[in-house]
Amino acid sequence: MSALLIGLTGGIGSGKTTVANLFADRGIELIDADIIAREVVAPGSDGLKAIVDHFGKEMLSSGALDRAALRARVFNNPQELRWLNNLIHPMVRTTMTERGKAAASPYALLVIPLLVENGLQSLVERVLVVDLPEEEQLRRTMSRDSNDRALVEKIMANQASREQRLAAADDLIDNGGNLADLNTQVERLHQHYLTLAGSHE
Ligand code: ADP
Repeated sequence: MSALLIGLTGGIGSGKTTVANLFADRGIELIDADIIAREVVAPGSDGLKAIVDHFGKEMLSSGALDRAALRARVFNNPQELRWLNNLIHPMVRTTMTERGKAAASPYALLVIPLLVENGLQSLVERVLVVDLPEEEQLRRTMSRDSNDRALVEKIMANQASREQRLAAADDLIDNGGNLADLNTQVERLHQHYLTLAGSHE
């Protein structure tokens, strides 16, 4: 079975997780880029071995990747950061596509927070953007994470802009309303994707 792949993206606090769970409630398989990015460097993985071969054993802490040590190693070092991204990104892309294609549901949702930033539109048949005015995005993120405004603003400044995301969208969810509004939009899109999946080979 080859499932139709939908890429779900949106800025921090836009509601990606909330939306993804509403699709999961309808039996749709989720494949989460952040989880896979951790899997490909888990203890015993080829990814972790490559990192240790390249940067040395000081990247390990009790057999697992020492993320702080790795961050310190690539911080302000564009060449090493590029090396790391060239290692990890293809593994994440391949794993996501394989899992998506193997999904048992009629279509699968690839949850990729940095889809637009990393230009991953070609991995999926359609890009679904969860959209929210930036001020509300800030407010919801601050209240979820108890972070101060400056930190959330900094994270947002390093992500794609609302306009860039909207330009990449095939489908849109407006998460400016309440959770009932959100559920209605998810149901409408779910029906649409089921129809598309029916004509997908
Ligand atoms: P993301 O995964 O994109 O970072 P979340 O799904 O975690 O975003 O949503 C951010 C926060 O906003 C969470 O605390 C979530 O419960 C809340 N939230 C999501 N959608 C709504 C909504 N329509 N109304 C109010 N709060 C919402």
